[in-house]
Amino acid sequence: MQTIFKILVIISISSLFTSCGSLSGSDPKDKKIPVKTKSSSLSTNAKLAKQVLIHPKITLLKKQVSGRLDGASSYHNIASTARGYSAKRSSYGRAPGGYVKLRRKMLQTMLYLANTKGYSYRVTAIAGGSHSRKSRHYAGIAFDVDMINGRKVGYSNPYYKAFMRAGRAKGATEVLGPGNRAHSTHLHLAWPR
Ligand SMILES: [Zn+2]
Repeated sequence: MQTIFKILVIISISSLFTSCGSLSGSDPKDKKIPVKTKSSSLSTNAKLAKQVLIHPKITLLKKQVSGRLDGASSYHNIASTARGYSAKRSSYGRAPGGYVKLRRKMLQTMLYLANTKGYSYRVTAIAGGSHSRKSRHYAGIAFDVDMINGRKVGYSNPYYKAFMRAGRAKGATEVLGPGNRAHSTHLHLAWPR
């Protein structure tokens, strides 16, 4: 009698496991929905940043213009965004420190300038560096450019005006360059807060 009872117990336990197994089999599908949504909203920025990072026409400075190595260079900002993290701000001068998420529209415009407009250019700062006290750089909505098509930004650069126009066309509302105070050698493109 005892053996029969044992067998019955084993059978009922194993059937319990089977039902659990079939239940958990349908579980991952249900669980995928929120996970997918989360990762896709996160990865849009990450995917864009990845494209910027490996783009042959976009050069990202690996240090601050001042020469500092603080992990908040344009290269570091894009590389951490490509991995799904926020971008680091600098902690010297007027820079507030901390981290910020880069604006998607700005990343899209970086790619647009290289892909659609065909510019090759160098980015010297995004969220990092020390700028004016309330600079949009600290909000992750501005980037600076000091070279376009292999030539330094300045009055003699034949590309900078059209580059600035293209930035405005893509929603940048604070576009500065030669002729604007403190911007004789670099462009500044920033989006609204
Ligand atoms: Zn700037």
